[in-house]
Amino acid sequence: MIHPEIEKRKTFAIISHPDAGKTTLTEKFLLFGGAINTAGAVKRNKANQSNTSDFMEIEKQRGISVATSVMGFEYSGKRINILDTPGHKDFAEDTYRTLSAVDSVILVVDCVKGVEEQTEKLMSVCRMRNTPVIIFINKMDREGKDAFDLLDEIESKLNISLCPLSWPIGQGHTFKGVYSIYNKHLNLFEPDKAKISAPVIEVNDLNDENLNKFLKPKELDGLKGDLELVHGVYGDLDKSMYIEGLLAPVFFGSAINNFGIKELLDTFINIAPSPKGREAEQREVAAEEKNFSGFVFKIHANLDPKHRDRIAFMRVCSGKFERNKFYYHTRQDKKLKFSNPMDFMANEKSIVEEAWPGDVVGLYDSGNFKIGDTLTEGEKLQFKGIPSFSPEIFKELENRDPLKTKQLEKGIQQLTEEGVAQLFIMQPGNRKVVGAVGELQFEVIAFRLEHEYGAKAAFRMLSYTRSNWVTSKDKTKMAEFLKRKQAHIGADKDGNPVYLADNEFMINMTMRDYPDIEFHKTSEFK
Ligand code: GDP
Repeated sequence: MIHPEIEKRKTFAIISHPDAGKTTLTEKFLLFGGAINTAGAVKRNKANQSNTSDFMEIEKQRGISVATSVMGFEYSGKRINILDTPGHKDFAEDTYRTLSAVDSVILVVDCVKGVEEQTEKLMSVCRMRNTPVIIFINKMDREGKDAFDLLDEIESKLNISLCPLSWPIGQGHTFKGVYSIYNKHLNLFEPDKAKISAPVIEVNDLNDENLNKFLKPKELDGLKGDLELVHGVYGDLDKSMYIEGLLAPVFFGSAINNFGIKELLDTFINIAPSPKGREAEQREVAAEEKNFSGFVFKIHANLDPKHRDRIAFMRVCSGKFERNKFYYHTRQDKKLKFSNPMDFMANEKSIVEEAWPGDVVGLYDSGNFKIGDTLTEGEKLQFKGIPSFSPEIFKELENRDPLKTKQLEKGIQQLTEEGVAQLFIMQPGNRKVVGAVGELQFEVIAFRLEHEYGAKAAFRMLSYTRSNWVTSKDKTKMAEFLKRKQAHIGADKDGNPVYLADNEFMINMTMRDYPDIEFHKTSEFK
């Protein structure tokens, strides 16, 4: 039997290409949940300016990006945890890691733009883990693509089967609202950007007399015709296919106008999976197990430079987490207890006494945690599912102030542990090579090294564009490979060897020359 505390939880992320409406949708969910009273309470996670000081300023104002990292609220008897992901593509890896801590996602698509570059990337990450996905097609108040065309585009570009569970009535200036196919219910709202007002009309079937007052006969006929076609083409929802990540339910709406949000939220809490267990290197851990276990998927620096403390975000995987109880840090082989673990409700954080699977707890950390670290009640477990991916830009870190060498060492160590970028140590000379997806990450590192650690760093561009983790069953062959290719070998955060290459061609050549060496695209290959 599933524990009621587990069954009542839904932990998910809202993801989208920047500007599709992720923040607006998050905000509307919080409004429906009564967690906030007015729009504008959720700070926009915008770093579209690829300018570092703007970026840091935004982070500071958010204050908080800590508080908005997780937003919990109660709705209809459920405890809902929304995990925030950065919108900027340079922080894609942060998003990947956050997705390891959710049980499902809502993917927002802009009806004018359709499937965009980030949409495809994010979908491929969900695919890797078979994460169930619900798609919300937003901005139906704008003259966008036709609903059927959008479904075709999504189905083919994202390579997933779809099943619409709501349907738009009109579009653009004729957009009236959405009909809930799932609940066979129609709510028509007044557009309202600031708050949620009661629906102006609620009907339970399409033959309701009331409908004629709000919809023109043509609109009603159009809706009925569409729904027949939708049913014929897409059929009923196969929930098990959704849970397996093979089929995505689709909702239409306009987040800013509150159209289609309630339909989405009400169906979401019904069909989205409750917290599932996770796979550890040693075994599968079920959420229902009695003993507590959890893993750190994100570390956030305290943005006040006077306090070096960090906050480690831990997802509870099984059992019950309790404040002031000793837990086992499996990598460091030591016991730790937490006197001020944090819970995140909407925009507020408070001390939490206990937490259940699916919950995210913020742990004050003075340097004990790395991303991926596991806590248990004593069992030696290491959760899987947070691989490092190949960076795309590699630069050597140069120390510009020899008197601050120690600060630089400590700073780069801590920043890379936080996951801001990846660090590879190369020989000879213990050279530090930083790998990232985008330029903004390097700027953030240089800025933070200077402002938080007092160190001065510069970066020298290297020609590498990808990394492969290397292993071999043959120790002698491996040693020979590492020696011969020394100029291309770096050690990652765990000391594992990584082969750095300029391009795919070079990797293929090397693979051909060294058939006994195995090349892996991510750090997790066991
Ligand atoms: P994010 O980058 O995905 O978080 O997107 P935001 O939520 O910040 O939205 C981006 C822009 O689209 C903002 O200017 C919103 O006001 C606007 N927007 C969001 N939802 C809608 C909608 O339903 N209709 C229209 N027309 N604009 C919207």
